[in-house]
Amino acid sequence: MAVTVYIPTPYRKYTDNTARVEVQGGDVLALVRELEGRYPGLREQILGPDGKVYRHVNIYVNDQLVEDLQGMQTPLRDGDEVAVIPAMTGGSLTFTEEQIRRYSRHIILPEVGGMGQRKLLNSKVLLIGAGGLGSPAALYLAAAGVGTLGIVDFDEVDLSNLQRQILHHVHDVGRPKVQSAVETIADLNPDVKVIPYQTALSSENVKQIFADYDIILNGCDNFPTRYLANDACVFLNKPMVDGSIFKFEGQVTVFVPGHGCYRCLYPAPPPPGLVPSCSEAGVFGVLCGVVASIQGIETIKLLLGLGESLVGRLLFFDALGMEFRQVKIRRDPTCPVCGDHPTITDLIDYHEFCGVPPTARLS
Ligand code: ZN
Repeated sequence: MAVTVYIPTPYRKYTDNTARVEVQGGDVLALVRELEGRYPGLREQILGPDGKVYRHVNIYVNDQLVEDLQGMQTPLRDGDEVAVIPAMTGGSLTFTEEQIRRYSRHIILPEVGGMGQRKLLNSKVLLIGAGGLGSPAALYLAAAGVGTLGIVDFDEVDLSNLQRQILHHVHDVGRPKVQSAVETIADLNPDVKVIPYQTALSSENVKQIFADYDIILNGCDNFPTRYLANDACVFLNKPMVDGSIFKFEGQVTVFVPGHGCYRCLYPAPPPPGLVPSCSEAGVFGVLCGVVASIQGIETIKLLLGLGESLVGRLLFFDALGMEFRQVKIRRDPTCPVCGDHPTITDLIDYHEFCGVPPTARLS
């Protein structure tokens, strides 16, 4: 006689990752004992110290709850299918013990909980740039357990980056930033899959790179990339958490489809040479941490559907005056890209207009 038992993911670590096992079993209790003999540790997951099935675990025989049959004495026949299904509402059982410890301070927050943490682990965020903003944002999102982080950056680590780009270390100087990011994040949280894109975003690749992600976190420091990323997000209906810095000041906002975009605020980039870049103007390194942390907060809020998003508001931070200020922003019906009658319907590589080389540095 053979009975098939379905083993759900949380228990597969006891069954060498096998999802279905065959047992003899005479009744359900005998089946659990037989499983214990073959897979030590599994019984403790199903039966409590009193020998009874835990209340968060249900056992089904041919899709019927054993309580509705004869309980643990439910007889088993050749060809029967048994499933042992733990509750997953709390989420805790879908985590490894290490994950429960790692994310415990999230899991005990009712607003996040096991469900929220699971959501984060299943989420995909793309970071534009592994520089001043991308570095702290990537570290916090990785620490929080955002399961997939894409990172786009063509550049290599320079000693002058270490003043603010905290993903990178002395031994990374001269190495690709995305490579350094992969290693730093692996050291911080091996749960996180990092997908590196060592390339400059262009009209050729941006849609393909963005397509797979839930949210785009923009930490670039040049106008061609900023406009390209904005337009791609509008065309692909992707939310974008936008951050920028200049000397001692930062700006953060969130654009979601249908509620405006960067071009609603600033329809076109400034003429070449009018606005200096980071390398020309300098940047107060620690400012990056504040702006990128706010971007990280907004990203996680969007992923979990928590709180009041920055959508419709542009937040300014002045580090010298230590002042936060916000202004209301809204979709402009005459916006050239997300308005009622858009005039821009294709991606534009602005370097041709701005005089900034296509490999413009990401902050
Ligand atoms: Zn717009």
